[in-house]
Amino acid sequence: MRIAIIGAGIAGVTTAYECAADGHQVIVFERCGSVAAEGSFANAGITAPGLSLAWGRATMPGLSGGSKLAWGWRRWRAGRSKDLAGRQERLLALGLFSHARLQELRRKLQMDYERAEGVLVLLRSEREQQAALAGLGLLERAGVSAQVLSPEQCLSVEPGLNPDARLHGGVHLSQGEAGNCRQFSHLMRIAAQRLGVQFRFHTTVRGLTPGTPARLTHEYTPPPDSLAEPSRLSEAGETPDAGDTRPASIGRTEDSFDAIIICAGAGAAHLLRPLKLKTALSTVHGYSITAPLRQLEAFPDLGPRAGLFDLRQQVSISRIGQRIRLAGGIEPGLASERFKDSTLALLHQVLDDWFPGAMLNTQVQRWQGSHAIAADGLPLLGASGRDGIWLNLAQGSATLLGWPLACGAARALAEQVAGRKPDSAAPDTTGLDISRFT
Ligand SMILES: Cc1cc2nc3c(=O)[nH]c(=O)nc-3n(C[C@H](O)[C@H](O)[C@H](O)COP(=O)(O)OP(=O)(O)OC[C@H]3O[C@@H](n4cnc5c(N)ncnc54)[C@H](O)[C@@H]3O)c2cc1C
Repeated sequence: MRIAIIGAGIAGVTTAYECAADGHQVIVFERCGSVAAEGSFANAGITAPGLSLAWGRATMPGLSGGSKLAWGWRRWRAGRSKDLAGRQERLLALGLFSHARLQELRRKLQMDYERAEGVLVLLRSEREQQAALAGLGLLERAGVSAQVLSPEQCLSVEPGLNPDARLHGGVHLSQGEAGNCRQFSHLMRIAAQRLGVQFRFHTTVRGLTPGTPARLTHEYTPPPDSLAEPSRLSEAGETPDAGDTRPASIGRTEDSFDAIIICAGAGAAHLLRPLKLKTALSTVHGYSITAPLRQLEAFPDLGPRAGLFDLRQQVSISRIGQRIRLAGGIEPGLASERFKDSTLALLHQVLDDWFPGAMLNTQVQRWQGSHAIAADGLPLLGASGRDGIWLNLAQGSATLLGWPLACGAARALAEQVAGRKPDSAAPDTTGLDISRFT
């Protein structure tokens, strides 16, 4: 089959790889100059099956406060919770499958993406412990390994934790990891290219026409000035990508494909609107700060060893190689240029609570990223209901979902597009597709 993928974030690169691994001819269209340039750029980098589902803000009514986002979510769910439990179970099965697929690919492709094993959910009070236990049941039923820890046990898992912090306890997810999502996406791009995938960077998809074949209009859209995106090009001192892998003509071009898979994250809405699809998608944005970890000989355990998640503040702390990253402050709407002072203060407060002094306050990189969310917090995966158009969207629904689901969702979708084989190992994703909104 000839397959087009729109978007080269974590969803797009993994889908391209899986489709090419099945022998299809794949072209990826990406409006930016590189992979993982938007929502997958500097996210927290936490992959833990089920973490978001069990303890993300949208699923924690007792902790969610009065934010518009949480309120809207609860209202939607109250009205349409039919089979929500079934869909959550299928999502957890997909999360576990995805975790296994990620590990399989990591070993097979010998990928090194600054990963560190384990994610610790930090609980500040008895109330949070009770809320965490409710989420734990969901994970245990699905076979996700999660261990409740005392404050002392938390310190043995993460010896750099502030011993004076008011820590009530924690939940340790041994299958979880912290790592560099952007670096992983780059490695997947290389692996996909080896399988013959073509990447068209600086190429914006303008429109889609369903059918057999389905058609796609794209346009070469180079940045007016390559210095316009300095922060995106300079993460961790990396040099910019080579850019487009093929010469592109100026003006709109139409091309036909057997299947078009939309992995366009927050950019998907523009493409879906003309197709009149009911997706119940909206956009949220969040923030991260990344800086080098302070190195002190007398305190070798300064800073986190792997990933942590502060349940109350909904902020994650991750070890990314020799750097430390804090991410959170999720709000409705698209990311803007402005970095909110209150969010910056929250991220620094969480750092001071748990790892005071661990971050070198020089070379702090600030980032804002947007992603699409579905009203029920679950991904949108499968046929779109329009001939030849497929969806791999909204994996980051309550954050912390995008990477843990990416490899499994990509494998499952590749099989659906090509016609599922009876011996397929990918789990059933019924109910995670668009039909739940129609
Ligand atoms: C602060 C923060 C922290 C987070 N932490 C985590 C975490 O720890 N773990 C986790 O799993 N997830 C996390 N997430 C969520 C995660 O970042 C997203 O779920 C994930 O990166 C989305 O990947 P994607 O490929 O769907 O979208 P993106 O990475 O945004 O990729 C979509 C791509 O499509 C391109 N595109 C869009 N429209 C077009 C078009 N018309 N033509 C061509 N190209 C187009 C865009 O340029 C973009 O590159 C976090 C998010 C935020 C904001």
